Amino acid sequence: MRDYSKINIITSVPKEPEASILIIYTGGTLGMVHDKNGALIPFDFSSILDHVPSLRQLELNLTVISFEKPTDSSNINPDDWNMIGQMIHDHYHEFDGFVVLHGTDTMAFTASAMSFMLENLDKPVIFTGAQLPISSLRSDARENLITAIEIASSRINNKPIVSEVCIYFDYVLLRANRSKKVESLHFDAFQSENYPVLAESGVVINYHHAVIKSFQSEKDLILHNKFDRNVVILKLYPGITEDVVRVITQIPNLRGIVMETFGSGNAPTSPWFIELLRKAIEKGVTILNVSQCPGGRVVQGRYDTSQQLQRIGVIEGADLTLESAISKLMLILGEEQDIEIIRKRLMEPISGELTL
Ligand code: ASP
Repeated sequence: MRDYSKINIITSVPKEPEASILIIYTGGTLGMVHDKNGALIPFDFSSILDHVPSLRQLELNLTVISFEKPTDSSNINPDDWNMIGQMIHDHYHEFDGFVVLHGTDTMAFTASAMSFMLENLDKPVIFTGAQLPISSLRSDARENLITAIEIASSRINNKPIVSEVCIYFDYVLLRANRSKKVESLHFDAFQSENYPVLAESGVVINYHHAVIKSFQSEKDLILHNKFDRNVVILKLYPGITEDVVRVITQIPNLRGIVMETFGSGNAPTSPWFIELLRKAIEKGVTILNVSQCPGGRVVQGRYDTSQQLQRIGVIEGADLTLESAISKLMLILGEEQDIEIIRKRLMEPISGELTL
């Protein structure tokens, strides 16, 4: 477990805060500032009001839990997912909403995982980050941070407007487990090709209530935190060799493969390819078929090139993103041993990540 520190920032004095928000700062570009020599270093969150003075207008009680060593998100792994999930779980009743500041590179993986970990969530958990450090003149960090906090604290009739895990970035709010990073230079870094945008922020924040998960508060929050990392992503490409597929499908202790196929779930029909997959499935490896296309869905059997996959027991990944597929597979394999239960749970939505 990483070390962390906790600070409290009240922006509402002398008035009563309108909401209490827990910010979990894990690292990434957002929290970088230039030191005396011009190098980028993680900033001290207690100075947030110097960087974003307009936060004072929100009249909130902000508690910030900061990773002691803010981390580039390339180094975030399921232990960190567990730490973030545990923090939300442990502080669930103290706060109205949660904002997770995270590097953009793997944000869609962490946010997807979080949507599967937090069963019965009925408060907003909003991930955000930035393409430019908060200390840069043209940084997108300030807008992303302020609006993410505003969404996390927004309520109608004393109920949160959003009660699911989301990514807010560059004026759009997306369902976390439908999002992927698509851009490393421009500000519009995230897209959700297979699910509508949940809200847009302009002069006002325009929520699309019909596509936001409805609020249900009867049940207690349950944290799922067992991940099995004995999984692999097998990305197909024209010319993939038998040796490559053999080595991957025969990794010792392997339990799951997310296979990124072409188009609507198509793959080579070569007998050696189908036979290697069949043997892996026979040994108990779960193979989940997702498409390399960001939009559309896998329909096994639509083309001749996916019929064999269906026949040998490859699981149709519908319109899952790769980020959702791998984190959902790790979580279900962590919780289940029975192949049929694993198959069933993979094909059923947990938190709106796939369209039936
Ligand atoms: N490499 C950074 C990260 O993911 C990029 C970013 O934050 O935008 O941590």
